Amino acid sequence: MNNSLIAQNTQIVRQIAAELGFDFVGISVADFLEEDAPLVEKWLKNKQHAQMQYMENYFDMRLDPRKLHEGTRSVISLMYNYFPTKKQLSNTYKISRYAYGEDYHFVIKKILKEFVQKIEAKIGAISARYFVDSAPVLERAWAKKSGLGWQGKNTMLINPKAGSYYFLAEILTDLPLLPDNPMHDYCGTCQRCIEACPTEALTPYWLNAEKCISYATIELKDQISEQVFGNKMENWIFGCDICQEVCPWNKFAKPHQQVAFEPDEKLIHMKNEDWELLTETMFSVLFKKSAIKRTKYAGLKRNIAFIKKSPKDEK
Ligand code: SF4
Ligand code: SF4
Repeated sequence: MNNSLIAQNTQIVRQIAAELGFDFVGISVADFLEEDAPLVEKWLKNKQHAQMQYMENYFDMRLDPRKLHEGTRSVISLMYNYFPTKKQLSNTYKISRYAYGEDYHFVIKKILKEFVQKIEAKIGAISARYFVDSAPVLERAWAKKSGLGWQGKNTMLINPKAGSYYFLAEILTDLPLLPDNPMHDYCGTCQRCIEACPTEALTPYWLNAEKCISYATIELKDQISEQVFGNKMENWIFGCDICQEVCPWNKFAKPHQQVAFEPDEKLIHMKNEDWELLTETMFSVLFKKSAIKRTKYAGLKRNIAFIKKSPKDEK
């Protein structure tokens, strides 16, 4: 394929991304993630992934997308906004903003399917696989490599124009495309996320999942450790947004435009007693299409009970 056709196809991909509501798109040549390999290895070796055993699987595929999808030549990285305008009532149990509406896995997967169909309609048949937080793809590493932002000290991907309240998605394809350049790190001397994390789960650019409220409220299958999390949950019962809320780059966050991410009015107006009285049937109805189902009813109740036992006012 000659260079002008590659440039033309790259432009088509960018245009489709914008049409489908992705705010940012970046492209990388599919290769071995040499810089990230030793870091991932160290993170796993030090058991910083806690009980997330699945992180240990498919190590080779994580670091090389060509092993995940044979023939891959380009990785298209995409950012989809989830920053909500609506807020939960103050002084209530909190859920992470990303889980306000319908489960992003389903919403974005559908859009990615359309993305590939649109590419094929304009360019012809391609080989492609697409992912959103659903396969052994090092999403933040690819987003960083393709110039969508830098990975901040809070380990989130930060875009200098729009912050970090974004879902990341990827398309692996055999289509040759023009790659973008990685971006500089603009955290500078800032330490706000490190200082704000109530459980000291963060050291710069490093997350100890075992101490993270997000991990404890969603992924942890056992009892929550009183020693690590006692009086420190800051009312979070599903996820935790503290290290994003304090990040100065998130002052650039703009409201998302995706109807499916709009929260149920009931959810937004729930008071603590409503959460505490939530029955399994109500849970199934309210969170029928939500990512909150991941923690299951029992998990959510465990989180609420833990906070009730050791409450602390919100910051
Ligand atoms: S999500 Fe919350 S607990 Fe986890 S690192 Fe960020 S501030 Fe700390
Ligand atoms: S709060 Fe500061 S140090 Fe942390 S990620 Fe944001 S800019 Fe970087």
